[in-house]
Order: sequence, then C-alpha cells, then structure tokens
Amino acid sequence: MMNKIRVVVWGENVHEREDERVAAVYPDGMHTVIAEGIRERGGDEVDVSTATLQEAEHGLTEERVGETDVLVWWGHRAHREVADDVVDRIQKRVLQGMGLIVLHSGHYAKIFKRLMGTTCSITWREAGEKERLWVCNPGHPIAAGIDRYFELPHTEMYGEPFGVPAPEEQVFISWFEGGEVFRSGCCWRRGNGKVFYFRPGHETYPIYYDENVRRVIHNAVRWARPQGLWIDSCPNVPVDKAPEKIEEKGAKLHKPGDEGYK
Ligand code: ZN
Repeated sequence: MMNKIRVVVWGENVHEREDERVAAVYPDGMHTVIAEGIRERGGDEVDVSTATLQEAEHGLTEERVGETDVLVWWGHRAHREVADDVVDRIQKRVLQGMGLIVLHSGHYAKIFKRLMGTTCSITWREAGEKERLWVCNPGHPIAAGIDRYFELPHTEMYGEPFGVPAPEEQVFISWFEGGEVFRSGCCWRRGNGKVFYFRPGHETYPIYYDENVRRVIHNAVRWARPQGLWIDSCPNVPVDKAPEKIEEKGAKLHKPGDEGYK
C-alpha cells in the first residue's frame, strides 16, 4: 500500500473571524470545510490537517512543509501578511515535488505569483450570478466523476484575461451568467511539483460544501501528490565518475589557435 497523502489545507482565516456573514457560512473557517471535504472522499488514503495565517510561521514551519505532500491554499485579504521566508520555503518544496492547489482569490497569493512569474490578474464582479464549469479535458484525472459540466448557482464572477502563463493542461473553463468566460481549472509543473489553480470559492457563498467542488479538490490532491522528490543541488562529477572513460585535461584556459580549434 502506498503511503498516505499528507495534505495541509492553509486558510488565511480573516474574513471568517471579522465578517459575521462569512462566519455564518463557515463558522470554523473555510479551511476546516475544505479539509473535511478531502477527508470525506480520501478516507484512508489521506492524512489531512489545517494551518492558518495566525499561527506561528503561519503554521508552515520548515519541518511541517518538509512533511507535506500537497498544500491547498486559500487567501484573499492578507496576501501581503504572508512572510517572505515562508513563501521561499514553499517554493523550494514545490520545486522538489510537493503539489500545490491554489483556490479562488489565491490567484494573487505571493506563492502563486512567485511560481507563475506573471501578474496573475483577472477581471471580476460580485453579482451572485450563476457559473457553469465546463470540462475541457474529460480524460484528465482532475475531472474524474464530473459530467460535461457542473453549475454553481451563485458566485463571484472572474473573467479573462487571466494573467498567467499558458496552462500546460486546461481542465475546466467557466461561463458566467453575465457572459464572461474564465480558465477556471489550470495545471502547471514547476520543477518536480504540480500546481493546480481552481477558481470556485468566494467567502460569502457555501461553495466548499458543494459536492462537485469537493470532488474536484480531492481529485486534484490525488493528481498533485509527489511522484518522488528531488533535492536541488549542483554536484560536481569527477572524471572517474563519467559514464565514458575520458582523460583528465584540466580546466586550463583555451585560446583561439589551440590544437583542435579552427
Ligand atoms: Zn472572491
């Protein structure tokens, strides 16, 4: 049996504590509901815990990040409060192979912008309109169990242009009642790690209770699990360790006109 997938669901946990409308939807925070959804579907295959901005080192110490296979990220209002050294260690771990799933307003999280290298900007409108998420890639493991599309009755609209590098795989595209479209399920690889951006999840709608949304997040956790971690370094390979036998010529300076140069 494979080892359990160690999942950490990270929540900014600000709206839930400061806005009673949000607290009414997510009394214990969005991160707990997202974590429950993964636990419910993942069963014995997953080991799910949560972390929040307010904890020491945001609950993401070097040791904890080093023991995480997939990190799920929800942030919005406090992106700037996330410490840069924590972002550095998450980036390093992703490059080694940790999966990262970025939800909704996490498009502007420091870690997402760092990994994308672009603005990650969007257009938006909050009018409680319907969203239809179309499956672009029915064979993709993240779309497993989803029909041609699914709908969320009331959402915040995100529209194109989405300022990200062209996704390596496109799993969902959203259509909104007002007419806009958005690339709402996108995959990238960064180093050895897999990154998935999934759009649904505004704080004032019960989106993380939705069965299809929970299914997609669980599928994404399974997809993003490390396939083997690689530690970054630049080891020197001495002549006697080269796969072919070669002669030591030394690292001396070669000049135009030296033997062998035309
Ligand atoms: Zn939102």
